[in-house]
Amino acid sequence: MADADCPFCKIVAGDVPAKKVYEDDAVVAFEDMNPQAPTHVLVVPKQHLRDLPAVAADPRAVAGYLAGIRATAESLGLTEFRTVFNTGAGVGQSVWHVHAHVLAGRPMGWPPG
Ligand code: 5GP
Ligand code: ZN
Repeated sequence: MADADCPFCKIVAGDVPAKKVYEDDAVVAFEDMNPQAPTHVLVVPKQHLRDLPAVAADPRAVAGYLAGIRATAESLGLTEFRTVFNTGAGVGQSVWHVHAHVLAGRPMGWPPG
């Protein structure tokens, strides 16, 4: 389930500190250490899955993960927010435990850079 070398598994386990904003059976959400918006949280499944395709390949993981993202936004009182999944180093993925960036609180351009 967990990967001993994974920084987000360590946050899930409580072995590395993070400002957690939401938690349920399936997910943990915590503030990004390098925020790109007034609200910038990362929502991760408790299960170690490397990226979004890996989540999609595990039907049992999909429902809990999506529900956890929704519950995180709701618990933060967000009605408008951007959700980003980077999949692959070439588009910016730097941690190999899937994470939804949930960003809010400022105007955002489109397309993203
Ligand atoms: P990626 O580049 O993979 O899409 O996003 C990784 C994100 O994780 C970055 O926004 C980075 O600031 C954040 N991050 C990386 N390591 C840590 C950590 O140990 N704690 C927290 N809170 N955020 C982290
Ligand atoms: Zn992990």
